[in-house]
Formats: sequence, C-alpha cells, structure tokens
Amino acid sequence: MNLSIFDNPELTKKQFEVYFDKHPELKDLAKLLRHILDWQLATYETFKNNDSSSWEENISLIYQLFEIGEKHGSDSIKKIVYELRELDEKSLKQKVQEFITNFCHKNNKPVSNEERFLFLTFLKPFYYFKGKSMSYDKITWLKPYCPVCGGHPSIAFIYDTEDIKGGLFLKCLLCDFVWLYYRIFCLNCQNNNPESFEVYIPENFKNTQLMVCHECKHYLKIFDIRNENSVIIDLRDWFTITLDLWAIEKDFVKHENNILGL
Ligand SMILES: [Zn+2]
Ligand SMILES: [Zn+2]
Repeated sequence: MNLSIFDNPELTKKQFEVYFDKHPELKDLAKLLRHILDWQLATYETFKNNDSSSWEENISLIYQLFEIGEKHGSDSIKKIVYELRELDEKSLKQKVQEFITNFCHKNNKPVSNEERFLFLTFLKPFYYFKGKSMSYDKITWLKPYCPVCGGHPSIAFIYDTEDIKGGLFLKCLLCDFVWLYYRIFCLNCQNNNPESFEVYIPENFKNTQLMVCHECKHYLKIFDIRNENSVIIDLRDWFTITLDLWAIEKDFVKHENNILGL
C-alpha cells in the first residue's frame, strides 16, 4: 500500500492529476500544491542517498520553497516569505527549531498558518527519512502522538493489514509515519464513549467520513481505504478540504489542522 507521497513518486504525480481534473474549483490552490509536492519529492531524492540527511545541513533548500511561495502563493504567504528572507541563516534555523519544538510538544505557541505551511513542507522529506531509517512499532504504540518525531496526526484512515482487519490508523502530519489507534477515541478530549460520537458521511466524497466528538466538538477526518489499492493520503486530504470548510461552518474543530491550516 502506498500511503505517503514518497512511497511512489510517479503514482503520486499521477494521482495528483486525477484529483486535479476532478476538482477544478481548487485550481489555484492545486497549482501551489503541485509545486511544493514536486519540491518535496525532488528534495527527498537528492539527499536520501547522501550522508547529510538533517534539515539543519540542508537549510539552504528552504529558499527554493520561498521562491515557490513568492511565485504561486497567496499575498499572506508572500508577506511571510518576505519576513523570513530578512533573517540570517542562524536565526532562520532557530525559528524552524522553535517551530518543531512547539509542534511536537503541543506548546500551542501561536504560529501563523503561512509559517506553519512553509516549515511543515520543508521538514517533511527529512522527517520521513528519519522514520524510514529506523524501526518503530506501528501496532502497540497506541498514543495520540507520533513515535518517530512526537508530531501529531491530522488525518486517519481505516484499512486492513494481514493481522488487523478494519483498524484505524493515524498518519503523522510531520513525518508521515502511520500507526494503529483506537477505533473510537477522541484525540482532543480522550472521550471513548461510542454514544457521544457522530459520523458524517458526505455524498460526494467516496469513502470519506468525519467523526465528531460531541463532548468537545472536535472531529477527525477518516478515509476508509479498505477497498482501494493505493491511496496517497495527503493528496486525498488536500482535495477534500471542502469537507473541512463544511465542518468549520458547523462549528466543529479539527484536532490538528493539515498544512493548509484546515
Ligand atoms: Zn512523526
Ligand atoms: Zn472530544
């Protein structure tokens, strides 16, 4: 099963085009996403066989992302890029490190969506590599945060493995690591009473559901991919953001937003 964008770059690009054709309403956003996707895949390819796989050693690559932001991003992204370009390398590294500490320890220090978007995009190839190069326990970990990096999941999916049928898996937003979790359990308030959850199944999105905890009004977006062969989770997440917009209208809150801040 291919789940991360890095698992099969060719398939990822192909799936992107399929989604893109189906969702012309996301044309402008998709343009930006395609550029950052290509950047992430190319970056991973260039450093994965070298010794220098840390983001600190490769900080200069972030300027390529800044260029993409300047060319294809919204005005607010351009503004943040302008501010980040003012920093010298040491201060920029410090800022990224602070972001990681904040994200992985849920300090909830406010960070703008634009900065979060740029830093999470930049860091993913390096953190994915970290997760790939060591073995972590996917099955017995059962915690709401990632065993590789301490990051948090923004998305979940249900699928079958050889040993577990219909398990719910979480995917780390930062490093793409996937691990098993409880089927009924609120990531925000730890509620596990099945009666206080409601599942919304939209008509126009195949195999997708929003599971809302009525104790705290937080929700989890879940893809049921038991009958599908290869699903690049991030792509499906990006192309189903109208569901997140619908949830916002209903005053539901996502326990952890995706890179788009939704
Ligand atoms: Zn992680
Ligand atoms: Zn809850």
